[in-house]
Amino acid sequence: MKSTSNIYLSKKALETNLKFLRKLYGKNKIISSVVKGNAYGHGIEQFVPLAQECGINHFSVFSSNEAFRVKKYSELGTTIVIMGMIYEDELEWAIENKIEFFVFEVERLLNAVKFAKKLNKKAIIHIEIETGMNRTGFNKDDWNTVCEIILNNSKYIELKALCTHFAGAESIANYARILKQKKVFQKAVKYFENKNIKPEILHSACSAASIRYPETRMDMIRVGILQYGFWPSKETYIEYIKNKKVKEDPLKRVISWCSEIMSIKDIEEGEFIGYGTTFLAQKDMAIGVVPVGYSHGFTRSLSNTGRVLVNEKRVSVIGIVNMNLMIIDLTDVEEVKIGDTVTMIGIQGDMEVTVASFSELSNQLNYELLTRLPQDIPRSILVE
Ligand SMILES: *Cc1c(COP(=O)(O)O)cnc(C)c1O
Repeated sequence: MKSTSNIYLSKKALETNLKFLRKLYGKNKIISSVVKGNAYGHGIEQFVPLAQECGINHFSVFSSNEAFRVKKYSELGTTIVIMGMIYEDELEWAIENKIEFFVFEVERLLNAVKFAKKLNKKAIIHIEIETGMNRTGFNKDDWNTVCEIILNNSKYIELKALCTHFAGAESIANYARILKQKKVFQKAVKYFENKNIKPEILHSACSAASIRYPETRMDMIRVGILQYGFWPSKETYIEYIKNKKVKEDPLKRVISWCSEIMSIKDIEEGEFIGYGTTFLAQKDMAIGVVPVGYSHGFTRSLSNTGRVLVNEKRVSVIGIVNMNLMIIDLTDVEEVKIGDTVTMIGIQGDMEVTVASFSELSNQLNYELLTRLPQDIPRSILVE
């Protein structure tokens, strides 16, 4: 049976974004494609093979569950890093399969050694340093213990990286905090060096940091939102574009999301439309019903404020977004008929609905809206 909406991924857009990032970062940097949150809603099973076709061979995920999915759909020799959750009984699986993982707890480090011994293999680890985000990472007090364990178990530990994560690099309001974090990270690197421990690489930057603080790029950038064609914040975009001659967005949105018109009818002036009384027809109107609602990821907070595209025109969502459908204003759309395409995210002619414009309306971040797109919406690749 058909789904009431479909998601499409543009290979061309992804190629454009990766080309831009490779040029910006330079040749020697590793780009780790961050595909947590079901590849920011794009779909791990579709996005990972697509990214590989575009030359990506390094992925970062949040959990072992996501690592398992990436592994299934990636080529041999692809590097996968788990940045967050991994259960003790899955550590063995990770080590066995050369899945790399962040370590930010002594217990996880000891368990890694335990399973590495059992398998007679090395655990490939990224030691996360707490530098001021205060989420995960080893505090200064733990550094000595961590160093001792690494030195005493060098047969079973491959120290791939020291790393950290910044607390909100997308906003200038956090400037002082980021500077402090950079300093603490340098201190940690020195500390480990003095103990004769040298990681293969250093990494700290997410998308926003890689744009605003180029020195944080180090050996590898963990790129999430930028590769999908979205800026981490408007501020980050303005900062990037302000000194450029051509004020044109170098990124292209990879995702589009479409449905179709299910029903059309005329409404008389003075009638309320949909549940309750939030929308009053101030004139005679034509409305369309679209079989997409909040259960499909079109958030209820877009009630009376969302915009979609129909026949290359931008039209409004009217009334409350329902669980399975929404109502749109077709009064000014000519020759519209049942079955015409409705674009919730994407391009029609010269018009574009980006998640960004959508999210500004609903005061949500791109990140949240994208990752809320349900996993069961079919996703397919557009080659052209
Ligand atoms: C999500 C995440 C990233 C990627 O963030 P973007 O802003 O999407 O680039 C990088 N590092 C860590 C630790 C993350 O959790």
